[in-house]
Amino acid sequence: MYEGVVQDLIDELGRLPGVGPKSAQRIAFHLLATDPVDIGRLQDVLGKVKEGVQFCEICGNVSEQPTCRICRDERRDLTVICVVEEPKDVLAVERTREFKGRYHVLGGALDPLSGIGPEQLRMRELLKRIGAADISEIIIATDPNTEGEATATYLVRMLRDFPGLSVTRLASGLPMGGDLEFADELTLGRALSGRRAL
Ligand SMILES: [Zn+2]
Repeated sequence: MYEGVVQDLIDELGRLPGVGPKSAQRIAFHLLATDPVDIGRLQDVLGKVKEGVQFCEICGNVSEQPTCRICRDERRDLTVICVVEEPKDVLAVERTREFKGRYHVLGGALDPLSGIGPEQLRMRELLKRIGAADISEIIIATDPNTEGEATATYLVRMLRDFPGLSVTRLASGLPMGGDLEFADELTLGRALSGRRAL
């Protein structure tokens, strides 16, 4: 334990995803040795990060307007929705250039141990979208890990009662235990075109 603000900084950094206690310490001491001008720049973006950014009213993707660029694009197929966990996964699927529909960002995956149930995710919003428009297919593109699989299973059960709606899941080939955003474009593109009905 360090004293005062140094320990506070280490604690805050340690709460970031992917930053363990050791990295938090390393970053903290790096910042302590950094030029105040560079710190000022970092402070600046951190202060603004919540200002200009909002979430798309339709899909939940990050957006600078009430609806995101993809939902505003009239050329996209309105009948197909690809369900992902996080906005970063939208980018990953977009990079494949295989998908022309729209997205639905859940805001995470089911993880009962961390207190994340269906209520904490944008499940109800998805149901509302399916009920309101003529949706023919839901592609489940949650991460290929335990939480992602649990979320996919839950979605399949939830969507079973919609007549005429086909529910598909990305084909295998994605590394198990992995994270969608780290899949290369080719693998993810293939998984998308080879998706299977559930
Ligand atoms: Zn959107």
